[in-house]
Amino acid sequence: MKLARRVANIQPSPTLAITGKAKAMKAQGIDVVGFGAGEPDFDTPDHIKAVAKKALDDGYTKYTPVPGTPELKDAVIAKLKRDYGLEYARENIIVSVGAKHSIYNVAQAFFEEGDEVIIPAPYWVSYPDIVLLAGATPVIVDTKEKSGFKLSIEQLDKAITPRTKCVILNSPSNPTGAAYTGEELKAIADVIVRRDVTVLSDDIYEKLVYDGFRFVSIASFGEEIRKRTIVVNGLSKAYSMTGWRIGYVAAGKELVAAMTNIQSQSTSNPVSFCDKAAVEALNGPQDFLKGWVAEFDRRRRYIVDRLNKIPGVSCLLPQGAFYVFPNFSKAYGRKTPSGREIKGSSDLAAYFLEEYKVASVPGVAFGDDACQRLSYAMSMNNIEKGIERIEQAVKDLR
Ligand code: PMP
Ligand code: GLU
Repeated sequence: MKLARRVANIQPSPTLAITGKAKAMKAQGIDVVGFGAGEPDFDTPDHIKAVAKKALDDGYTKYTPVPGTPELKDAVIAKLKRDYGLEYARENIIVSVGAKHSIYNVAQAFFEEGDEVIIPAPYWVSYPDIVLLAGATPVIVDTKEKSGFKLSIEQLDKAITPRTKCVILNSPSNPTGAAYTGEELKAIADVIVRRDVTVLSDDIYEKLVYDGFRFVSIASFGEEIRKRTIVVNGLSKAYSMTGWRIGYVAAGKELVAAMTNIQSQSTSNPVSFCDKAAVEALNGPQDFLKGWVAEFDRRRRYIVDRLNKIPGVSCLLPQGAFYVFPNFSKAYGRKTPSGREIKGSSDLAAYFLEEYKVASVPGVAFGDDACQRLSYAMSMNNIEKGIERIEQAVKDLR
């Protein structure tokens, strides 16, 4: 069978692949420590689950409006007003089956052959492939550890060409945890407006920030940038609802209408009872988050401290999300006890997993081969155990 050409350009999501592999090893009784997971280890709060259960019992199990119910759109609008101080109308909002689906729909509705989409690296694994699936060209701009893994204004300005359609920003970032301050975002917004391009702002980790960091939306610096901003967010991370698949976009009404048409011809509405639960998540109590953030913070400090104590490893302290992105490049060129040379991040991840039963995601999947991504969305005991294994694995290289 001859498959469509577009399939040849893309890879399966490496983050989901590693998480799946670690889970399968665990199911076989192997004691794996999984630093791969891109999801909070907390359970979805009970008050949210209760609403979904009631919706099922009430027979709320039929088709609903394609872009989300008016009630859910209003909950999103209220959230954007509360958190960003921005006013949106229902015609500016579309709810999809997870933020990944939201980004996919943006790409299908907005990008086409000949368009360039700027993606700062390290990037979340799905951005380049989603851009490619829309026929457009990802333009990767490398950021480095020494600049805190943040894009500079000069880099951004230089990367923009007459073909540039959009810049994808993700703050706090998966995989680095780097987050842009309000001042930095304002400077980026000025370039976006001056060069008349758009920005897709993936805010999915906005609630998971540490050390008093204040999240600011790039859309909040005036009407010129707001009309060029596509806000993407979702419930997966802040409410630990990864499996429920609820994501949303706030953007100009033409784009939202086009995305709604695409969604009507692909997935239709977001799942009915998840839609109800999402209203509760957004409008209901938010106090549980404080405890989650405090726990993530404790683990973040611990894991960064331990990693930096491993000879040859360096790790920045992330400002947000629940990942660290340590640099292991000093291990490259060395050999494993069984004589295999570690040539890059994929070899190292394979060595960790096969010989020390620790799952991490190789940096190359995020556009930076020097690093590994470790998620600290797991218990302190497991983090300790996993870091000890990594420490040993690095020490055992010759
Ligand atoms: N954006 C980023 C940066 C992510 O890490 C993820 C990962 N889950 C998503 C979007 C998509 O999340 P979901 O589809 O679960 O809403
Ligand atoms: N975004 C998460 C991660 O980076 C979940 C997996 C995925 O959707 O790629 O691990």
